[in-house]
Amino acid sequence: MSKTKIIVVGAGIAGLTSAAILSKYGFKVTLIESHSQSGGCAGTFKRKNYVFDVGATQVAGLENGGIHSKIFEFLQIPLPKAKILDPSCVVDLNDGTRPINIWHDSKEWIRERNMQFPDSSKFWNLCYLIHQNNWKFASNNPVLPFNNLWDLRQFLNALSPTNLLTGILIKSSMFDLLKICGSHKDERLIKFLNLQLKLYSQEDVFNTAALYGCTVLQMSQNPHGLFHLKESMQALSKALEISLAKNGVNILFNEQVNSLNYDSKDKLWRVFTKKGSNNFEYISQDVVYTPPPQSLVKTLDLNSEVFNKYTKKIESLPEPSGAIVFYSAISKDNLKNVTSNHYQVVDNDLGSLFISISEDGDGRAPIGEITLIASVFANINDWQGINKELYLIKKDYFLKKISNTIENKFKISPENWLHRELATPLSFERWTNRPKGIVGGLGQNPDIFGIFGLSSRTPMRGLWLCGDSIYPGEGTAGVSQSAVMVARQIIASKGFSNFKI
Ligand SMILES: Cc1cc2nc3c(=O)[nH]c(=O)nc-3n(C[C@H](O)[C@H](O)[C@H](O)COP(=O)(O)OP(=O)(O)OC[C@H]3O[C@@H](n4cnc5c(N)ncnc54)[C@H](O)[C@@H]3O)c2cc1C
Repeated sequence: MSKTKIIVVGAGIAGLTSAAILSKYGFKVTLIESHSQSGGCAGTFKRKNYVFDVGATQVAGLENGGIHSKIFEFLQIPLPKAKILDPSCVVDLNDGTRPINIWHDSKEWIRERNMQFPDSSKFWNLCYLIHQNNWKFASNNPVLPFNNLWDLRQFLNALSPTNLLTGILIKSSMFDLLKICGSHKDERLIKFLNLQLKLYSQEDVFNTAALYGCTVLQMSQNPHGLFHLKESMQALSKALEISLAKNGVNILFNEQVNSLNYDSKDKLWRVFTKKGSNNFEYISQDVVYTPPPQSLVKTLDLNSEVFNKYTKKIESLPEPSGAIVFYSAISKDNLKNVTSNHYQVVDNDLGSLFISISEDGDGRAPIGEITLIASVFANINDWQGINKELYLIKKDYFLKKISNTIENKFKISPENWLHRELATPLSFERWTNRPKGIVGGLGQNPDIFGIFGLSSRTPMRGLWLCGDSIYPGEGTAGVSQSAVMVARQIIASKGFSNFKI
């Protein structure tokens, strides 16, 4: 194969995965990352004796047949060591009722569900059927949204007759499914679903697309599952870096892509970067852009009708959320009654607090100590344009408020914290270069999910999008699926045989 040069922007999981697949396939790939390390929102940072997962703390898709597994098999590299989460999460509605254990074993989960939400089995059974259909479809390598005939063919080839049946729900929400099943007045069930769906789709039960929500709700149970990585989340990126090194890809760290310009005469992209005080220029036939599309339009140095129309489309996207994340460490003996690595707790002021607890000896803290990370959703605009004094006051408020909620939940004495610090949307903006600190992808509501979403094929020749704003949404598994999709599109655009994973 003649080796074509492809530039991938960003070494988060989307960039690492797309670069790994394309280089393994034989393309000459250059991967440019503005940070000093890979991983992006699924990376880590070190503080004192601790390693903290920056954003993502649990991984889907490591099971046999899961998306990470399939990609690692193609790359011929071993999967990072991980433990299945069982329960994957304990959800405390903070209403005096028994917390809900989301068990890995399907039978145990059905028992728990029936006990916690009597009369809801019709709803769960419908979700299961829809999910089975979704899964078959996703495993057939669909491309969506489709933007040309080849994409459309991939989409149609992935469909099975049962997808046509569930397809009638394309504009439905999870609440519509509750109504169909007569569970729409079950306030406790709605509260639980709101919490879980917001975590994975950035939307509540009224606004999560039914076809997305059903799959999200089955991710903890066998044959799927959520996993806790040994050592840290960085293990996933490190493994992908091994594949890149094997296939001759050097990641250009500390180098920021500032401008992308299409040279229509030579039919090439000119990519302008800055590293320290030095400026560089690279040329390539294709560019895969993995930071959020909201930053792409600021990077493109183009002036055409097509570009202006595309810019308007990106600018009209709904604004994603930000996150406030609390990173702490505590002695294992001072954290009592822990039965899960993850808790989701309702707090009247904070909303949903998602807590991730490391395991003694898993590499994140010295033996006898553990790290505890807790995150809440934040409105990015609340953190824009404020002076340093107000910023510090707000930070202090959230640090105390989150500490307090966790102390109450786990009966911790305040003097027992070994470490505490907080990241705000501004910290995420600095760390990942995501505009205003937007994290996660676009809310997966019926107007933006699947065929109504943002396509990886842009109207600009050779410019591709990948990452958590592209089908099928956020999370390391979602962005890996989008990496497979963009790799397939690029490979096909060069006239090579249809590549599937
Ligand atoms: C608090 C929080 C908790 C989460 N929890 C989970 C979880 O438990 N499980 C899960 O699966 N997912 C979770 N997620 C979501 C998940 O982390 C992301 O969806 C996923 O990691 C995004 O990967 P990405 O490669 O698309 O983007 P990113 O991780 O943002 O990577 C983009 C990369 O591009 C680089 N970059 C940006 N601009 C430029 C530029 N101009 N030039 C060069 N490089 C650039 C950035 O430095 C970054 O490394 C969580 C996210 C957050 C914030």
